[in-house]
Amino acid sequence: TFKAIRIDKAEKGTTAALVQFDEADLMDGDVTVRVEWSTLNYKDGLAVTGKAPVVRRFPMIAGIDFAGTVEHSSHPRWKAGDRVICNGWGLGETHLGSYAEKARVKGDWLVRLPDGISARDAMAIGTAGYTAMLAVLALEQQGLKPSQGPVVVTGAAGGVGSVAIAILSKLGYHVIASTGRMSETDYLKSLGAAEVIDRNELSVPAAKPLAKERWAGGVDSVGSTTLANLLSMTRYRGAIAACGLAAGMDLPTSVAPFILRGVCLLGIDSVMCPIELREIAWKRLSNDLESTKLSEITHEIGLDEVIGTGAKILAGQVRGRIVVKIS
Ligand code: NAP
Repeated sequence: TFKAIRIDKAEKGTTAALVQFDEADLMDGDVTVRVEWSTLNYKDGLAVTGKAPVVRRFPMIAGIDFAGTVEHSSHPRWKAGDRVICNGWGLGETHLGSYAEKARVKGDWLVRLPDGISARDAMAIGTAGYTAMLAVLALEQQGLKPSQGPVVVTGAAGGVGSVAIAILSKLGYHVIASTGRMSETDYLKSLGAAEVIDRNELSVPAAKPLAKERWAGGVDSVGSTTLANLLSMTRYRGAIAACGLAAGMDLPTSVAPFILRGVCLLGIDSVMCPIELREIAWKRLSNDLESTKLSEITHEIGLDEVIGTGAKILAGQVRGRIVVKIS
């Protein structure tokens, strides 16, 4: 057996507990990994608290990403001793997840740990940070360059937001960070934000479908009215990458930004993202995210602290990224 955070169905909702899990109960997969580090993302908070139906199989081991070492493999790409990362693919949702000392997954899901990134760093980045990188790649593919104007990052003090600020500022962008925690201004500036604005500025429904043009691009983890305002304030032919729903799933917008300003809304999904793009994202993370900034963003917890910290991330009380020491 090994230690794991198991989610079970209860009469009302679900329960989460740190238990001993039997290796024989792991699901099918051609690679078994000794998990060394995991992380806590917003979605993990939803899973361990049962606040949203993230978990779709019971019992489940929570946790959507891990870094570790291959123990056994019958997959042609992997052999014992290889250092690997896994993000998404249904881990912690439909497939037994990463808050466990062992995971058995499909070899096709794994990315090789890039040189220059430790397993701990990979999970300090985690799904949130790799999603921030996917958002930056999407903006670049759309043709965005620092010379075109400022970029806005919402949910700035959160995981996706913090990593997005660090990457964009390193790439030379003028970053406007939008936060509900103005007390974190110094933190956001130390990550590279040039300006910090109060998120209330963006959370009120706009009076008109178009507003004054403020930025050429943006990374949004908030959704809802905030994303609608971001779009209506985007410069001609600019683009916004939509990653999250911290304020809601809705999007009360109009077609005006798209048809009158040629603004693009870019959808970002990390879970089923093709492996080729994951490899590009992880390689870029090893170049474009400074390790000193990553340490500033990161706070470490143990497996026994995951459930309590899960409630905190939903309450918007977690700053930056949480890395979870597994073994
Ligand atoms: P996180 O660390 O909790 O960050 C979310 C941030 O959003 C908070 O720190 C807070 O930032 C802001 N926020 C929270 N509640 C808000 C509200 N009601 N109104 C406005 N802002 C609010 O979470 P995360 O792990 O970075 O994830 C961020 C979002 O991206 C989540 O919705 C998550 O589900 C999503 N996500 C999506 C993907 C994907 O594949 N598309 C991958 C990863 C994450 P401030 O305190 O600075 O305002």
